[in-house]
Amino acid sequence: MKTSRRNKKARIRKVRIRFGIIVLVTFFLMIFLIGKMYSSHQEGVLQQAIKQEAIKQEAIKQEAIKQEAIKQEAKQQKKSDGKTKGKVVYLTFDDGPSKLTDQFLDVLKEQNVKATFFMQGSNLKKMNLQESVKRVIREGHYIGGHSMTHDSQKLYTNKQFVPEMNETLALIHDITGTNPRLVRAPYGSAPGLRSERIRNQIVESGFKLWDWTIDSNDWRLKGHPNQILENIKRETKVDMEVVLMHEKSQTLQELTEIITFYRDKGYAFGVYNDADHFVLNFQNDERL
Ligand SMILES: [Zn+2]
Repeated sequence: MKTSRRNKKARIRKVRIRFGIIVLVTFFLMIFLIGKMYSSHQEGVLQQAIKQEAIKQEAIKQEAIKQEAIKQEAKQQKKSDGKTKGKVVYLTFDDGPSKLTDQFLDVLKEQNVKATFFMQGSNLKKMNLQESVKRVIREGHYIGGHSMTHDSQKLYTNKQFVPEMNETLALIHDITGTNPRLVRAPYGSAPGLRSERIRNQIVESGFKLWDWTIDSNDWRLKGHPNQILENIKRETKVDMEVVLMHEKSQTLQELTEIITFYRDKGYAFGVYNDADHFVLNFQNDERL
């Protein structure tokens, strides 16, 4: 009897111990599982936070880009006289196309700047340069006429100005498919176009004429590219400048510096377009 009671007690103890172990194991297992769930939840929260932060950053970036675009657009808005609001510089290159045209285009592309070219008929006729001429248009620049011969005797003394310009503009059209109406007079409109008769002819032919506000004198500065920039710096005075340059190696050499100068001064880079023409000629002829 005593033995069986002792045995019973021992069995009960065993059962209690086993039960205790099961409870403990279950308890630790639950702690472990809860911990794991909590940490994975924490990870999820962290990842969610990172994702949301990235979205926020992206939104801020997009907003900044949008604001910059609005600012640029406001700068570029046209005034009633066709001029662009804000500081604008028109870089212009005469006497091309040339063997340097592609290199000028490379720099302009690298700097994301559009420019205005005034090309000469005798050079436009050179077949090996016509691919570069097409590239000028393809890359968003403007090409106006600069006469066939660049010969002052023929243009001004023999009064071939208008016929030569018409021929040049037709040539640009043939090569590029554009229909430019702007020309620049070789050596400028003063004194060549002093005669009102020749200016009447220009008006009748329906084209416009641009001189410049800054003469960089680049063509005479072979070997002294820095002097071109110095000339430009000295002459830059107003919010709208049209800079006369040529397709010369010294100009090409200094072009990045010239662009940097205007960019640092807060100028936007304008490119001529026929629809937004404004008057800029030394004869002060409002019709041109
Ligand atoms: Zn010229």
